[in-house]
Amino acid sequence: MYTLCVEDKFSAAHQLIDYNGPCENLHGHTFKVKVCVYGEKLNSLSLLIDFTDLKKILKDIRDQLDHQFLNNVLNFSPTSENLSKYFYDKVKEKLPLEVKLKEVTLWESETSSATYND
Ligand SMILES: [Zn+2]
Repeated sequence: MYTLCVEDKFSAAHQLIDYNGPCENLHGHTFKVKVCVYGEKLNSLSLLIDFTDLKKILKDIRDQLDHQFLNNVLNFSPTSENLSKYFYDKVKEKLPLEVKLKEVTLWESETSSATYND
């Protein structure tokens, strides 16, 4: 089995509604997101999926969120947990059939991340 991962970053603002602490206030992060896929069959070029294609899938999703106020563009509370699932669901829709999604990890700081898989 082969596993491939790509990463991207985006900057965005959010606030956690009803959170009893400083994250209730409007603030921003440079989020990092990592997508890992897996599969066992390589194509005629000995690739599971072209890194360029996988990065494009991730970039198209991340472009919708970059420099946005996440509470305004998403219909859920923009926690790291929910954002990791959001990327997971969106990436999964766009993968070729032979490539399976393993997990998505989203960092809101260098030391804090959430990972989603199903
Ligand atoms: Zn935050």
